Amino acid sequence: MVNSSEREDRDLSLIEELDIPKLSDAYTLIEMKLKENYQIGMIYFHLANSLKIKEKYGPSVYHQVLKLIAQTLKSFRGKYYRSSDIVVVSDISPDYFFIFFLSPPRYKLKLSPSDIKLSAHRILRHLTEELEEKLKEAGLDFLKLEFQIGFTPIERDPNVSIERLLFEAQREAYLRSKLEDIIYDFVSSVSHELKTPLTSIKGYVETLLEGAIDDKEMAVKFLKIIAQETERLHKLITDLLDLSQMESNKLKFMFSVVNLRDVAEDAIELLSGLAEEKMIDLRLVADKPEYLVWADEERIMQTFLNLIDNAIKYTPEMGEIEVRIKERKHDVLVEVSDTGIGIPPQEIDKIFDKFYRTTISQKKAGGRGIGLSIVKKIIEAHGGEIWVESELGKGTTFFFTLPKVHPEELKSSGERSNGTPSGKG
Ligand code: ADP
Repeated sequence: MVNSSEREDRDLSLIEELDIPKLSDAYTLIEMKLKENYQIGMIYFHLANSLKIKEKYGPSVYHQVLKLIAQTLKSFRGKYYRSSDIVVVSDISPDYFFIFFLSPPRYKLKLSPSDIKLSAHRILRHLTEELEEKLKEAGLDFLKLEFQIGFTPIERDPNVSIERLLFEAQREAYLRSKLEDIIYDFVSSVSHELKTPLTSIKGYVETLLEGAIDDKEMAVKFLKIIAQETERLHKLITDLLDLSQMESNKLKFMFSVVNLRDVAEDAIELLSGLAEEKMIDLRLVADKPEYLVWADEERIMQTFLNLIDNAIKYTPEMGEIEVRIKERKHDVLVEVSDTGIGIPPQEIDKIFDKFYRTTISQKKAGGRGIGLSIVKKIIEAHGGEIWVESELGKGTTFFFTLPKVHPEELKSSGERSNGTPSGKG
């Protein structure tokens, strides 16, 4: 067994062996260049699977790989960046390499993150190509290297020490690369989500045009599917628009007196087809004909649709979904309860986070983890609360409350007989 201090010693000697300066050796130079008004960009390359390589193939292969990376990055000098640019290795972990681009003041254009990103990707591409060659020569072509890259400009700040500045830069670069990952991931999954219904719509329209339209029964069946897929597309696009408005705090609300029961009934009606397809019993439980709240009717409709649609999505065939409305002293409580797959207890806190999907639901098609984060914003904007209780494999109940309509509001809404919403929110 190697204890951790021994391992650190080895890594330190490995850093020496790599024969490129350590990050801290570059501090003075970078500080000086910043003072001389150089523009500086930083890129890092992290061999993300280095530990795996070390564990699986042993320390000597691991050393060899890191040395090859260091050599290659050094040999890129003058080819992919200026000869005066600095290549260093992290003091702490030998699998982090940094390149500092030094741009003398006479280069007028400001180094932007996208410039640095372009260089980062270009260097990474050439680095991987060159490494593949070198690994082959060394008989190590069974190795798959996984890189993580980060990039950021470094701005001078006379009040901050150079150590701190570079530490912040590393964090910035890391976050930037993470953000890129999230964006790419998001774009690719959203495109997929858009493509699936579109492909299906295209297919059915073509079949109809090719003659299926003359068979009334078949035509109705196909048109129903087309309507459903269109609805799916519409929901996704509305969610995306809401998400962007929510981020810029532009989500608008139009308040008026709303009977929650009517909204719940309409939502159930709209989704009854989907429930029937899975032979799910979807029902409303409410004693009174009216539950008046001060709300944005469309947004509350969206909330019901989201919760019921989720309940249908995450409940197996022949299950049950109950929408319950209960009047309480100051508010109205709504429960949407299903007999579905449930939510793992350790994930229940994250369920309203943007883009969060539980580990057990990820495999199911459809869904991007946007709906619930919007629903939460909607309920909170109404002064209500939302929470969830769930038992894995048994079912889930979402609860939300909305403040009961105030007599004042009832009066003022009567005065606005032209139906103009108050636009509060
Ligand atoms: P999605 O479009 O992925 O369904 P939501 O934001 O509506 O996005 O839901 C986020 C995640 O919460 C879902 O991906 C799923 O993992 C979980 N979830 C939501 N509702 C339920 C439910 N009724 N039963 C089980 N899991 C649910």
